[in-house]
Amino acid sequence: GQWLGMLGGGQLGRMFCHAAQSMGYKVVVLDPAQDSPAGTVAEKQVFAAYDDVKGLDELAALTRVVTTEFENVPAASLKQLSGNCRVSPGAAAVAVVQDRIAEKAFIAAQGIPVAPYSEVRSAADLENAGQHLFPGILKAARLGYDGKGQARVANVQEALAAFESFGRVPCVLEAMLPLKEEISVVMARGFDGEVAVFPIGQNTHVNGILATTVVNPGLIAENIQHQAKQAAIRIAEGLNYFGVLCIEFFILEDNSLVANEVAPRPHNSGHYTMNACASSQFEQQVRVMAGMPLGSTQLRAPAIMLNILGDSWFHPETGAFAEPAWEKVLALPGVSLHLYGKSEARKGRKMGHVNVVNENFDTALAHARQVSEILNLSQVL
Ligand code: ATP
Ligand code: MG
Ligand code: MG
Repeated sequence: GQWLGMLGGGQLGRMFCHAAQSMGYKVVVLDPAQDSPAGTVAEKQVFAAYDDVKGLDELAALTRVVTTEFENVPAASLKQLSGNCRVSPGAAAVAVVQDRIAEKAFIAAQGIPVAPYSEVRSAADLENAGQHLFPGILKAARLGYDGKGQARVANVQEALAAFESFGRVPCVLEAMLPLKEEISVVMARGFDGEVAVFPIGQNTHVNGILATTVVNPGLIAENIQHQAKQAAIRIAEGLNYFGVLCIEFFILEDNSLVANEVAPRPHNSGHYTMNACASSQFEQQVRVMAGMPLGSTQLRAPAIMLNILGDSWFHPETGAFAEPAWEKVLALPGVSLHLYGKSEARKGRKMGHVNVVNENFDTALAHARQVSEILNLSQVL
Protein backbone atom coordinates (compact mmCIF):
# COMPACT_ATOMS: atom_id res chain seq x y z
CA GLY A 1 0.00 0.00 0.00
CA GLN A 2 0.80 3.67 -0.29
CA TRP A 3 2.69 5.44 2.53
CA LEU A 4 1.23 8.34 4.50
CA GLY A 5 3.43 10.56 6.69
CA MET A 6 2.55 11.79 10.18
CA LEU A 7 4.42 14.53 11.97
CA GLY A 8 3.98 13.79 15.68
CA GLY A 9 3.59 10.62 17.71
CA GLY A 10 0.73 11.39 20.13
CA GLN A 11 -2.67 9.74 20.46
CA LEU A 12 -4.16 11.63 17.52
CA GLY A 13 -1.39 10.24 15.34
CA ARG A 14 -2.03 6.77 16.74
CA MET A 15 -5.74 6.86 15.86
CA PHE A 16 -4.79 8.15 12.38
CA CYS A 17 -2.48 5.13 12.01
CA HIS A 18 -5.28 2.74 12.96
CA ALA A 19 -7.66 4.31 10.44
CA ALA A 20 -5.00 4.37 7.71
CA GLN A 21 -3.97 0.77 8.30
CA SER A 22 -7.54 -0.49 8.21
CA MET A 23 -7.83 1.13 4.77
CA GLY A 24 -4.62 -0.51 3.50
CA TYR A 25 -2.15 2.35 3.91
CA LYS A 26 1.17 2.32 5.72
CA VAL A 27 2.20 5.13 8.01
CA VAL A 28 5.60 6.62 8.78
CA VAL A 29 5.64 8.71 11.95
CA LEU A 30 8.25 11.33 12.81
CA ASP A 31 8.72 11.68 16.56
CA PRO A 32 11.78 11.79 18.82
CA ALA A 33 10.32 9.45 21.50
CA GLN A 34 11.05 5.72 21.67
CA ASP A 35 7.60 4.74 22.97
CA SER A 36 5.17 7.29 21.52
CA PRO A 37 1.51 6.23 21.09
CA ALA A 38 1.70 6.58 17.28
CA GLY A 39 5.31 5.51 16.78
CA THR A 40 4.62 2.14 18.37
CA VAL A 41 1.78 1.29 15.96
CA ALA A 42 3.12 2.84 12.73
CA GLU A 43 4.86 0.69 10.11
CA LYS A 44 7.88 2.93 10.40
CA GLN A 45 9.20 5.71 12.62
CA VAL A 46 11.78 8.39 11.96
CA PHE A 47 13.31 9.24 15.33
CA ALA A 48 13.97 12.96 15.12
CA ALA A 49 12.90 16.28 16.60
CA TYR A 50 10.05 18.01 14.75
CA ASP A 51 12.42 20.65 13.44
CA ASP A 52 15.33 18.34 12.58
CA VAL A 53 16.25 19.05 8.95
CA LYS A 54 17.74 15.59 8.31
CA GLY A 55 14.79 13.83 9.95
CA LEU A 56 12.31 15.82 7.88
CA ASP A 57 14.19 14.95 4.69
CA GLU A 58 14.14 11.28 5.68
CA LEU A 59 10.37 11.49 6.24
CA ALA A 60 9.79 13.23 2.90
CA ALA A 61 11.83 10.56 1.10
CA LEU A 62 9.47 7.84 2.36
CA THR A 63 6.10 9.36 1.49
CA ARG A 64 4.43 11.71 -0.94
CA VAL A 65 2.07 13.23 1.60
CA VAL A 66 2.54 14.35 5.21
CA THR A 67 0.05 15.56 7.81
CA THR A 68 0.34 16.54 11.47
CA GLU A 69 -1.40 15.79 14.71
CA PHE A 70 -0.49 18.76 16.92
CA GLU A 71 -0.84 22.46 16.40
CA ASN A 72 2.53 23.56 17.67
CA VAL A 73 4.46 21.87 14.89
CA PRO A 74 7.05 24.41 13.69
CA ALA A 75 5.67 26.16 10.62
CA ALA A 76 9.24 26.12 9.26
CA SER A 77 9.18 22.30 9.31
CA LEU A 78 5.98 22.23 7.26
CA LYS A 79 7.57 24.66 4.84
CA GLN A 80 10.68 22.52 4.52
CA LEU A 81 8.64 19.35 3.94
CA SER A 82 6.54 21.10 1.31
CA GLY A 83 9.65 21.35 -0.88
CA ASN A 84 9.68 17.55 -1.18
CA CYS A 85 6.12 16.34 -0.71
CA ARG A 86 2.53 17.43 -0.23
CA VAL A 87 2.04 18.79 3.29
CA SER A 88 -1.32 19.44 4.80
CA PRO A 89 -2.26 21.51 6.70
CA GLY A 90 0.17 23.92 5.10
CA ALA A 91 2.64 26.20 6.83
CA ALA A 92 0.59 29.34 6.15
CA ALA A 93 -2.63 27.98 7.71
CA VAL A 94 -0.82 26.58 10.73
CA ALA A 95 1.10 29.83 11.24
CA VAL A 96 -2.24 31.66 11.59
CA VAL A 97 -3.93 29.28 14.01
CA GLN A 98 -0.94 28.67 16.26
CA ASP A 99 -0.75 32.35 17.13
CA ARG A 100 -3.85 33.69 18.90
CA ILE A 101 -3.15 37.24 17.71
CA ALA A 102 -3.11 36.21 14.05
CA GLU A 103 -5.93 33.71 14.61
CA LYS A 104 -8.36 36.20 16.16
CA ALA A 105 -7.59 38.85 13.55
CA PHE A 106 -8.13 36.27 10.79
CA ILE A 107 -11.45 35.01 12.16
CA ALA A 108 -12.74 38.54 12.71
CA ALA A 109 -11.71 39.45 9.16
CA GLN A 110 -13.96 36.64 7.90
CA GLY A 111 -16.88 38.50 9.47
CA ILE A 112 -17.21 35.95 12.28
CA PRO A 113 -17.62 37.32 15.81
CA VAL A 114 -14.81 36.72 18.33
CA ALA A 115 -14.63 37.75 21.99
CA PRO A 116 -13.75 41.45 22.44
CA TYR A 117 -9.98 41.41 22.76
CA SER A 118 -6.83 43.39 22.51
CA GLU A 119 -3.29 42.46 21.51
CA VAL A 120 -0.78 42.64 24.34
CA ARG A 121 2.90 42.99 23.52
CA SER A 122 3.92 45.25 26.39
CA ALA A 123 2.82 46.36 29.84
CA ALA A 124 1.72 49.63 28.22
CA ASP A 125 -0.72 47.70 26.00
CA LEU A 126 -2.37 46.37 29.16
CA GLU A 127 -2.47 49.76 30.82
CA ASN A 128 -4.21 51.10 27.71
CA ALA A 129 -6.63 48.17 27.42
CA GLY A 130 -10.25 49.25 27.66
CA GLN A 131 -12.27 48.66 30.83
CA HIS A 132 -14.71 46.57 28.75
CA LEU A 133 -12.07 43.79 28.68
CA PHE A 134 -12.31 43.29 32.48
CA PRO A 135 -12.93 40.88 34.05
CA GLY A 136 -11.00 39.09 31.35
CA ILE A 137 -8.64 36.28 30.43
CA LEU A 138 -5.04 36.90 29.51
CA LYS A 139 -3.92 34.20 27.07
CA ALA A 140 -0.38 33.69 25.83
CA ALA A 141 -0.51 34.00 22.03
CA ARG A 142 1.47 30.81 21.43
CA LEU A 143 1.87 27.29 22.81
CA GLY A 144 -1.07 27.22 25.26
CA TYR A 145 -3.46 24.26 25.49
CA ASP A 146 -5.77 22.70 28.10
CA GLY A 147 -6.06 26.13 29.70
CA LYS A 148 -2.29 26.41 30.24
CA GLY A 149 -0.76 29.81 29.53
CA GLN A 150 -3.97 31.54 30.64
CA ALA A 151 -4.93 33.63 33.63
CA ARG A 152 -8.30 35.02 34.68
CA VAL A 153 -7.78 38.64 35.60
CA ALA A 154 -10.20 40.98 37.38
CA ASN A 155 -8.36 44.23 36.65
CA VAL A 156 -5.26 45.85 35.12
CA GLN A 157 -3.10 45.06 38.17
CA GLU A 158 -3.86 41.36 37.97
CA ALA A 159 -3.33 41.42 34.21
CA LEU A 160 0.09 43.05 34.64
CA ALA A 161 1.08 40.44 37.24
CA ALA A 162 -0.03 37.61 34.92
CA PHE A 163 1.81 39.16 31.95
CA GLU A 164 4.94 39.31 34.12
CA SER A 165 4.52 35.68 35.23
CA PHE A 166 4.21 34.56 31.58
CA GLY A 167 7.62 36.18 30.91
CA ARG A 168 6.14 39.12 28.94
CA VAL A 169 5.43 36.96 25.89
CA PRO A 170 2.89 38.32 23.37
CA CYS A 171 -0.67 37.73 24.60
CA VAL A 172 -4.29 38.54 23.93
CA LEU A 173 -6.52 39.98 26.63
CA GLU A 174 -10.09 38.78 26.11
CA ALA A 175 -13.24 39.88 27.86
CA MET A 176 -14.77 37.15 30.02
CA LEU A 177 -18.02 36.21 28.28
CA PRO A 178 -21.20 34.75 29.78
CA LEU A 179 -21.07 31.26 28.25
CA LYS A 180 -24.22 29.21 27.92
CA GLU A 181 -22.62 26.39 25.94
CA GLU A 182 -19.31 25.42 24.41
CA ILE A 183 -19.59 23.60 21.11
CA SER A 184 -17.20 22.41 18.47
CA VAL A 185 -17.46 21.86 14.78
CA VAL A 186 -15.15 19.18 13.41
CA MET A 187 -14.94 19.11 9.63
CA ALA A 188 -12.86 17.91 6.72
CA ARG A 189 -11.89 19.68 3.53
CA GLY A 190 -10.47 17.74 0.63
CA PHE A 191 -7.84 18.90 -1.88
CA ASP A 192 -10.65 19.51 -4.37
CA GLY A 193 -12.42 21.84 -1.91
CA GLU A 194 -15.14 19.35 -1.00
CA VAL A 195 -16.24 19.81 2.64
CA ALA A 196 -17.90 17.45 5.11
CA VAL A 197 -19.01 18.69 8.52
CA PHE A 198 -19.60 16.37 11.47
CA PRO A 199 -22.53 16.83 13.85
CA ILE A 200 -21.87 19.46 16.49
CA GLY A 201 -20.62 18.37 19.91
CA GLN A 202 -21.32 20.11 23.22
CA ASN A 203 -18.29 20.22 25.45
CA THR A 204 -17.66 20.40 29.17
CA HIS A 205 -14.23 21.03 30.69
CA VAL A 206 -12.83 20.19 34.11
CA ASN A 207 -9.70 22.05 35.23
CA GLY A 208 -9.28 23.42 31.71
CA ILE A 209 -9.23 19.96 30.11
CA LEU A 210 -12.03 18.63 27.92
CA ALA A 211 -14.06 16.20 30.05
CA THR A 212 -17.11 15.28 27.97
CA THR A 213 -18.57 15.80 24.52
CA VAL A 214 -22.29 15.23 24.12
CA VAL A 215 -23.78 14.80 20.66
CA ASN A 216 -27.52 14.96 20.38
CA PRO A 217 -28.49 17.30 17.57
CA GLY A 218 -31.84 18.11 19.17
CA LEU A 219 -30.12 19.86 22.08
CA ILE A 220 -28.92 22.91 20.12
CA ALA A 221 -31.19 25.24 18.16
CA GLU A 222 -31.14 24.47 14.45
CA ASN A 223 -30.26 28.06 13.44
CA ILE A 224 -27.25 28.14 15.79
CA GLN A 225 -26.01 24.84 14.39
CA HIS A 226 -26.36 26.21 10.88
CA GLN A 227 -24.51 29.43 11.77
CA ALA A 228 -21.66 27.50 13.40
CA LYS A 229 -21.26 25.13 10.46
CA GLN A 230 -21.29 27.99 7.94
CA ALA A 231 -18.73 29.89 9.99
CA ALA A 232 -16.52 26.79 10.22
CA ILE A 233 -16.63 26.28 6.45
CA ARG A 234 -15.78 29.95 5.90
CA ILE A 235 -12.78 29.61 8.22
CA ALA A 236 -11.52 26.44 6.49
CA GLU A 237 -11.90 28.01 3.06
CA GLY A 238 -10.35 31.30 4.16
CA LEU A 239 -7.33 29.44 5.52
CA ASN A 240 -7.06 27.46 2.29
CA TYR A 241 -7.08 24.49 4.62
CA PHE A 242 -6.98 20.86 3.52
CA GLY A 243 -7.47 18.11 6.06
CA VAL A 244 -9.45 17.81 9.29
CA LEU A 245 -9.88 20.76 11.61
CA CYS A 246 -11.94 21.76 14.62
CA ILE A 247 -13.40 25.16 15.41
CA GLU A 248 -14.45 25.83 19.00
CA PHE A 249 -17.39 28.18 19.51
CA PHE A 250 -19.10 29.71 22.50
CA ILE A 251 -22.87 30.14 22.63
CA LEU A 252 -23.51 33.11 24.88
CA GLU A 253 -26.43 33.67 27.27
CA ASP A 254 -28.17 35.77 24.57
CA ASN A 255 -27.76 32.87 22.08
CA SER A 256 -25.18 34.70 19.99
CA LEU A 257 -22.28 32.72 18.61
CA VAL A 258 -18.60 33.56 19.12
CA ALA A 259 -15.66 31.68 17.59
CA ASN A 260 -12.98 30.83 20.16
CA GLU A 261 -10.13 29.00 18.45
CA VAL A 262 -9.16 26.68 15.62
CA ALA A 263 -7.30 23.38 16.01
CA PRO A 264 -5.57 22.37 12.75
CA ARG A 265 -6.07 18.63 13.22
CA PRO A 266 -8.60 16.08 14.46
CA HIS A 267 -9.77 17.09 17.93
CA ASN A 268 -10.54 15.46 21.24
CA SER A 269 -14.15 16.68 20.89
CA GLY A 270 -14.40 14.70 17.63
CA HIS A 271 -13.51 11.34 19.17
CA TYR A 272 -17.20 10.43 19.42
CA THR A 273 -17.17 10.05 15.61
CA MET A 274 -15.17 6.81 16.01
CA ASN A 275 -18.28 4.98 17.15
CA ALA A 276 -21.19 7.27 16.35
CA CYS A 277 -20.65 8.37 12.75
CA ALA A 278 -20.51 6.61 9.39
CA SER A 279 -16.85 7.73 9.08
CA SER A 280 -14.60 8.84 11.93
CA GLN A 281 -12.59 12.07 11.96
CA PHE A 282 -9.43 9.97 11.52
CA GLU A 283 -10.84 8.10 8.53
CA GLN A 284 -11.63 11.54 7.06
CA GLN A 285 -8.04 12.66 7.64
CA VAL A 286 -6.80 9.53 5.84
CA ARG A 287 -9.23 10.08 2.98
CA VAL A 288 -8.06 13.67 2.52
CA MET A 289 -4.36 12.75 2.65
CA ALA A 290 -4.85 9.86 0.25
CA GLY A 291 -6.78 12.06 -2.18
CA MET A 292 -9.92 9.94 -1.76
CA PRO A 293 -13.51 11.21 -1.61
CA LEU A 294 -14.67 12.26 1.85
CA GLY A 295 -16.79 9.83 3.86
CA SER A 296 -20.28 10.35 5.22
CA THR A 297 -20.46 12.28 8.49
CA GLN A 298 -23.92 10.96 9.28
CA LEU A 299 -24.67 10.41 12.96
CA ARG A 300 -25.88 6.87 13.59
CA ALA A 301 -27.12 7.58 17.11
CA PRO A 302 -26.70 10.08 19.95
CA ALA A 303 -23.32 9.77 21.66
CA ILE A 304 -21.37 10.81 24.71
CA MET A 305 -17.56 10.86 24.86
CA LEU A 306 -15.86 10.76 28.25
CA ASN A 307 -12.17 11.56 28.49
CA ILE A 308 -10.10 9.30 30.71
CA LEU A 309 -7.18 10.92 32.50
CA GLY A 310 -4.49 9.23 34.55
CA ASP A 311 -6.50 10.28 37.61
CA SER A 312 -8.73 7.25 37.02
CA TRP A 313 -5.73 5.05 37.91
CA PHE A 314 -5.08 6.86 41.18
CA HIS A 315 -6.19 5.47 44.54
CA PRO A 316 -6.09 8.22 47.16
CA GLU A 317 -6.21 5.72 50.06
CA THR A 318 -2.95 4.07 49.03
CA GLY A 319 -1.41 6.79 46.84
CA ALA A 320 -0.82 4.08 44.23
CA PHE A 321 -1.77 3.91 40.54
CA ALA A 322 -3.64 0.80 39.42
CA GLU A 323 -5.59 -0.23 36.32
CA PRO A 324 -9.29 0.82 36.47
CA ALA A 325 -12.09 -1.77 36.40
CA TRP A 326 -12.43 -1.97 32.61
CA GLU A 327 -14.59 -5.10 32.90
CA LYS A 328 -17.30 -3.01 34.58
CA VAL A 329 -17.07 -0.32 31.89
CA LEU A 330 -17.17 -2.82 29.05
CA ALA A 331 -20.14 -4.67 30.57
CA LEU A 332 -22.34 -1.66 29.77
CA PRO A 333 -24.20 -1.73 26.43
CA GLY A 334 -23.08 0.61 23.66
CA VAL A 335 -19.78 1.42 25.35
CA SER A 336 -16.48 1.47 23.41
CA LEU A 337 -13.10 1.88 25.08
CA HIS A 338 -10.15 3.58 23.37
CA LEU A 339 -6.81 3.57 25.19
CA TYR A 340 -3.76 5.31 23.80
CA GLY A 341 -1.04 2.88 24.88
CA LYS A 342 0.75 5.35 27.12
CA SER A 343 3.45 3.73 29.20
CA GLU A 344 2.52 5.36 32.49
CA ALA A 345 -0.58 6.90 34.06
CA ARG A 346 -0.09 10.36 35.53
CA LYS A 347 -2.63 12.78 36.95
CA GLY A 348 -3.98 15.09 34.24
CA ARG A 349 -2.50 12.95 31.45
CA LYS A 350 -4.91 11.95 28.68
CA MET A 351 -4.90 8.13 28.71
CA GLY A 352 -7.94 7.33 26.58
CA HIS A 353 -11.64 7.89 26.16
CA VAL A 354 -14.92 6.05 26.25
CA ASN A 355 -17.71 6.50 23.73
CA VAL A 356 -21.26 5.68 24.74
CA VAL A 357 -23.68 5.36 21.83
CA ASN A 358 -27.38 4.64 22.03
CA GLU A 359 -30.41 5.34 19.87
CA ASN A 360 -32.06 6.70 22.98
CA PHE A 361 -30.16 9.68 24.35
CA ASP A 362 -31.39 9.22 27.92
CA THR A 363 -30.15 5.64 27.88
CA ALA A 364 -26.76 6.78 26.60
CA LEU A 365 -26.67 9.38 29.37
CA ALA A 366 -27.53 6.80 32.04
CA HIS A 367 -24.74 4.51 30.84
CA ALA A 368 -22.28 7.39 30.59
CA ARG A 369 -23.05 8.30 34.21
CA GLN A 370 -22.26 4.73 35.21
CA VAL A 371 -18.94 4.89 33.34
CA SER A 372 -18.21 8.16 35.10
CA GLU A 373 -18.92 6.52 38.47
CA ILE A 374 -16.73 3.48 37.75
CA LEU A 375 -13.80 5.58 36.54
CA ASN A 376 -14.12 8.25 39.21
CA LEU A 377 -14.56 11.01 36.64
CA SER A 378 -15.40 14.31 38.23
CA GLN A 379 -17.54 15.66 35.39
CA VAL A 380 -21.16 16.52 35.87
CA LEU A 381 -23.28 14.73 33.32
P1 ATP B 1 -7.69 23.85 24.33
O1 ATP B 1 -7.24 22.77 25.25
O2 ATP B 1 -9.12 23.71 23.91
O3 ATP B 1 -6.76 24.12 23.19
P2 ATP B 1 -6.84 26.42 25.30
O4 ATP B 1 -5.86 26.28 26.40
O5 ATP B 1 -6.31 26.71 23.94
O6 ATP B 1 -7.77 25.16 25.26
P3 ATP B 1 -9.18 28.17 25.23
O7 ATP B 1 -9.96 27.19 24.47
O8 ATP B 1 -8.94 29.48 24.58
O9 ATP B 1 -7.80 27.58 25.76
O10 ATP B 1 -9.88 28.44 26.63
C1 ATP B 1 -10.06 27.39 27.57
C2 ATP B 1 -11.43 27.48 28.20
O11 ATP B 1 -11.56 28.70 28.94
C3 ATP B 1 -12.57 27.54 27.21
O12 ATP B 1 -12.94 26.24 26.80
C4 ATP B 1 -13.64 28.25 28.01
O13 ATP B 1 -14.26 27.37 28.93
C5 ATP B 1 -12.85 29.25 28.81
N1 ATP B 1 -12.76 30.54 28.10
C6 ATP B 1 -11.83 30.88 27.19
N2 ATP B 1 -12.03 32.13 26.71
C7 ATP B 1 -13.11 32.60 27.36
C8 ATP B 1 -13.83 33.85 27.33
N3 ATP B 1 -13.45 34.84 26.53
N4 ATP B 1 -14.91 33.97 28.14
C9 ATP B 1 -15.29 32.97 28.97
N5 ATP B 1 -14.67 31.78 29.04
C10 ATP B 1 -13.59 31.59 28.25
MG1 MG C 1 -6.33 25.72 22.20
MG1 MG D 1 -9.93 25.51 23.46
